[in-house]
Amino acid sequence: MSPSRIIDLLRHAQPETSAQAQGWVRTKREAKGIAFLELNDGSSLQNLQVVISQDLPEYEQVIKAIATGAAVKVAGKLVASPGKGQRIELSAESVEVFGTADPETYPLQKKRHSFEFLRTIAHLRPRTNTFGAVFRVRNACAYAIHQFFQERGFIWAHTPIITASDCEGAGEMFAVTGLNLDKLAQSSKPVDYSQDFFGKPTFLTVSGQLEAEIMAMAFSNVYTFGPTFRAENSNTSRHLAEFWMIEPEMAFCDLEGNADLAEDFLKYIFNFVLEKCPEDMTFFQERINDQVMANARKIIDQKFERITYTEAIRLLENSNKNFEFPVKWGLDLQSEHERYLAEEFFQKPTIVMDYPIGIKSFYMRVNDSDSQQTVRAMDILAPGIGEIIGGSQREERLDVLESRIKAMGLNPEDYWWYLDLRRYGSVPHAGFGLGFERLVQFITGMGNIRDVIPFPRSPLNADF
Ligand code: ATP
Ligand code: MG
Ligand code: MG
Ligand code: MG
Repeated sequence: MSPSRIIDLLRHAQPETSAQAQGWVRTKREAKGIAFLELNDGSSLQNLQVVISQDLPEYEQVIKAIATGAAVKVAGKLVASPGKGQRIELSAESVEVFGTADPETYPLQKKRHSFEFLRTIAHLRPRTNTFGAVFRVRNACAYAIHQFFQERGFIWAHTPIITASDCEGAGEMFAVTGLNLDKLAQSSKPVDYSQDFFGKPTFLTVSGQLEAEIMAMAFSNVYTFGPTFRAENSNTSRHLAEFWMIEPEMAFCDLEGNADLAEDFLKYIFNFVLEKCPEDMTFFQERINDQVMANARKIIDQKFERITYTEAIRLLENSNKNFEFPVKWGLDLQSEHERYLAEEFFQKPTIVMDYPIGIKSFYMRVNDSDSQQTVRAMDILAPGIGEIIGGSQREERLDVLESRIKAMGLNPEDYWWYLDLRRYGSVPHAGFGLGFERLVQFITGMGNIRDVIPFPRSPLNADF
């Protein structure tokens, strides 16, 4: 017999059957001639209670070796549990202790630790209730994302991490020197980023979108799911320097089709997580953020509101709110504006479309209908978090795209391959970008985005 996952025992196993379980000890309690362990293997929020009676051979020795943090394997018989909130417990017939843990130095003591402290011990953080729940939900989201797109026939496109193109043109890229450490140590001159690697400036990608467009021009519907990097001020609770993005791209698609897909997508992910991780979601609702379930219902049950940027500005002007940042046609919406619209005014997810041309990227399709004042961009604003998705219909006309690139001060020669897509078989197409951690943060209600990624990039985590 091989050991079972604890979640399977807790959910399905019958009393009076034999079972094996293995994991890390969360707590040990000793009474007269009997000891109780709470065992966790990461498969569920709930621990398996293990009962060890003094009939066990070498009882004293075994119990002494076990402390919070130790790794053990237990074989025995499942019995109906007299305890509250648990159906069964494991009565031990043999216990194997792997690694012990010194209770004097083990950093995870029984008290509640602050999230700030736990970030400094990212190697043990996954063994806490909160991070167990976060990373299981994160995993469920990743699974759901692939399943959603695969069910619809989308091809998963792998786009480069090291790249020469700055998709957003926002200058937020980390430069790659291309030097190995020996060469770097020998180099007495400042490193010349323009020569070393591809013979031109080379960076970590900020987005796979432009390359995803290439793939969509052959496979029709594709999506990326990979790491992206932004050297921006990530000192907020919603920004990371290294985060994962999901970017679907669809040929033969306009902005409305794009918005439809994004809405279906969010509903699908929330439904999936509620079904697959009910205990973890209850934990977030009860222990982390009491809006978690209400926000999930707002995503699942309601049709998203759709308004234009111009209407959004009118609503903000008429709100009589004292915003910190100015509200004016032509300026970007700030987080406080986004949250007012989604949280207070509509009280549901809100898709804002058709932004001023001056505040959006060069690749977005220019609107014909309003003397080219706006582009076919959309942001999806969610209650409790603000922008969660940014997307657009892409400019498919060669001449318009070329003049937009020039107007933004970019060099069309750098985008020769992107322009080729408009020379050969161009077609209306659209897509969006969703920050994976932004999504997990929204679903779990965690206050800081650093706490939904296993290894947040920050000075506190410089050792990982
Ligand atoms: P924001 O306004 O929040 O800074 P953005 O408009 O700069 O986001 P986009 O370039 O539109 O971001 O990227 C698409 C999505 O990627 C965003 O909607 C968001 O979910 C996510 N995202 C962007 N920047 C970050 C970051 N630094 N950390 C985590 N997620 C991010
Ligand atoms: Mg940004
Ligand atoms: Mg934005
Ligand atoms: Mg955006």
